[in-house]
Amino acid sequence: MTSPRGSYFIKTWGCQMNAQDEQKMASLLQAEGYAPATSARNADVILLNTCSVREKSAEKLFDFLGRLKKLKTKSPQAVIGVTGCVAQQEGEAVIKRASHVDLVMGPRRIGRLPELLNQARARSVAPRSATVDTALNDLSAIFWDGGRGVRSGATAYLTIMEGCNMGCTFCIVPRTRGREVHRAFGEIVAEARRRVDQGILELELLGQTVNAYRDGRQSFHHLLEAVAIIPGLKRLRFTSSHPAFFTPNTAAVMAAHETICPHLHLPVQSGSDAVLKAMRRGYGIAEYFRRLDDLRQRIPGVAISTDLIVGFPGETEQDFRATLDVLSQARFSQVYAFKYSPRPGTTAATTCDDDVPDSLKRSRLARLFALQEEISLEENQKLVGRALPVLLSGPSRQDADVASGRTPCNRVVNVHGARPEQDMGRIMMTRITAAHRHSLSAEPSV
Ligand code: SAM
Repeated sequence: MTSPRGSYFIKTWGCQMNAQDEQKMASLLQAEGYAPATSARNADVILLNTCSVREKSAEKLFDFLGRLKKLKTKSPQAVIGVTGCVAQQEGEAVIKRASHVDLVMGPRRIGRLPELLNQARARSVAPRSATVDTALNDLSAIFWDGGRGVRSGATAYLTIMEGCNMGCTFCIVPRTRGREVHRAFGEIVAEARRRVDQGILELELLGQTVNAYRDGRQSFHHLLEAVAIIPGLKRLRFTSSHPAFFTPNTAAVMAAHETICPHLHLPVQSGSDAVLKAMRRGYGIAEYFRRLDDLRQRIPGVAISTDLIVGFPGETEQDFRATLDVLSQARFSQVYAFKYSPRPGTTAATTCDDDVPDSLKRSRLARLFALQEEISLEENQKLVGRALPVLLSGPSRQDADVASGRTPCNRVVNVHGARPEQDMGRIMMTRITAAHRHSLSAEPSV
């Protein structure tokens, strides 16, 4: 596709918030007349949208930038930008390490992307200078998405809050995304209505600690309910919740509205109270299970997924076994687990030794995944023969001729017999035919 402004390519690493930021940036660029390019090689603007939650993700950025150096020498007018959390954390240091970068922009400046890009384009040819903007204090455009909405197929993402006020000792998010900013209640509900009127079937509310949301006397569960009752909305999700804010009121609202999907992502991080205390998570394991048990009583069959860190400073074999016990007891539907990596400026990195050797972190992670894979398979096997509605989102990863989607419980289902292109964005009734560790197989049910 050719366009008067040129073309853009965005490469994203990291979480759902980063994926949503990519969509926001794409939406803003398209509104400015840029067209999407199929690869960095044929793009006029290349944006690397980064994550800094773990060390590896920052390294991936600098590897990628290394590969772009040749391209910049060949096409000096191409603009290379670094956005997202590494941009926020490193600022000018990105330019020092990779002098061919033209733009470094923090996540809170996304609304200013067109303006910053014009500046970077003007400065990208000799005498070159880079544009760096990582201000955290301008909130004017924080929730602005170019007016077009951020969507993928029949799903739209809606950021309701940004930043984090929790002081988890391992986490860099408060430094890269700033303190919490909450979007106005009425604005969120109005936007949700607009998206549903435009044909969106599924809405996902996003925030770093989404359930810490507040607007005056309105709390997260009030907002959840106000969105859940929008006529025409079929599915409502939200992520990521923090256990310390997961209230019985939220569980009650989830149970009361069929539109709210029976799935909760509730990061537990560790099974050991001593480690949770050192992480400053603000809850213990007994409290975490009280919340889970309450939700499971209200919504039988609700799926719970979680995040875990292995090898946090001081984690003993006994602490780690407590984490395995939590997996056995909680029977999560899905687990995202990571080796602890010290992040610059965090309390854990500045006050504790990273004293669990990497080889031990790796073996703990492997033990954890081995156990979870057994559990996921057993939980998936319970669904074989069941009729489940699947919101189809495109071709499956393994076979482009098979359509893939998700159940209300957020399980990936490959539907043999559904058409990946034509049926995309449709909720199809299916019958589950087989269970695997990370997905289910199904056929359309008539
Ligand atoms: N806000 C959510 C919470 O704390 O409940 C999670 C958001 S974080 C972007 C995603 C996950 O990355 C975390 O839940 C945690 O498991 C993992 N993570 C964060 N910092 C980490 C670190 N320093 N080392 C390893 N994993 C980390």
